[in-house]
Amino acid sequence: MVQITFPNKHSSRKLLSLLTGVVAILGASGMFLTVFYSRSVNASDDCNEEKMFCYRDCFKSREDSTTCKDGCNRMATKCETGITEAPATREYSPVSGNGSEEKEWIDNGYGDPVITNLNMRKNDGRTYTHEFDVDVVLLRNSGWSEAEVRELMSKATEVYMECGIQLANVKIVTATAPQSTWIDSYMESEKGLVRSLPSAVKRPTVFFVRSNREGNWAYSYNKEVCGTSPRCDTAWVTKDIFSPVRINQFKGDNWKYVVGHEIAHLVGNCSHNNDSVDNIMNDNPQRVSKYPQYQLCNSIKQHASVRRINNYSSAR
Ligand SMILES: [Zn+2]
Repeated sequence: MVQITFPNKHSSRKLLSLLTGVVAILGASGMFLTVFYSRSVNASDDCNEEKMFCYRDCFKSREDSTTCKDGCNRMATKCETGITEAPATREYSPVSGNGSEEKEWIDNGYGDPVITNLNMRKNDGRTYTHEFDVDVVLLRNSGWSEAEVRELMSKATEVYMECGIQLANVKIVTATAPQSTWIDSYMESEKGLVRSLPSAVKRPTVFFVRSNREGNWAYSYNKEVCGTSPRCDTAWVTKDIFSPVRINQFKGDNWKYVVGHEIAHLVGNCSHNNDSVDNIMNDNPQRVSKYPQYQLCNSIKQHASVRRINNYSSAR
């Protein structure tokens, strides 16, 4: 969790040197990279970058590598014609979805959406001055249950309560991803999932996925690092956080603040700190706790998604 990852833009020179190195290392298996390189000559820099990440991710991922490379090849063809959108393949049967909200998810490519609206506000006698909402996308077949997601979202509320902020409304949409391979995140799947969100979906948005092809466990894209990317203000939590290796890095049950931590990257528009005091954004897992620092609380209250509560009452 203690990680913001965002692929930096690579210059053409870096791209070439990286490719040269990779091809040299790969030897015989460098053929597909050679094909990729020759195709990239006439494409835009953005497309080159996306293809590079796509093929690299496929190479690193042992699962579904043929499907993955097919996807990259399709993307490479699209790049040459100037269209960078991923192909919108639909691999589901829309059988449910009576309401208009469900219909919008289905129209956008998600399958069988089940929507749960939760009021997470705590009426515990404390004074709350601000609140915000989070929308959650739980991908079916990712291994996550709604109960697990609810528990982690509930732990996240504890972080913000310390600032006098309620994480108020949480909408959990359990749905099948527009493409079945997107339960294992990579750049193109993330972009595809975000582009397919109904317009009413609020940010921050948290995606619960099975894994990340680059090996990240939980990560997020805050405004400071994501620029104008459609992935801004999204967080991604993989099922890998349940790994004992991961859990044992933290004190007690503090690993359960992973979602609160990732959301704090977004609403606090912040990175990590190395303070000697335990806090939610500490870069040392042993020093991660639910407590936000004073400056973080102030930053969160400035975020566009956070609203002031007029009557300052927790009973709403
Ligand atoms: Zn982090």
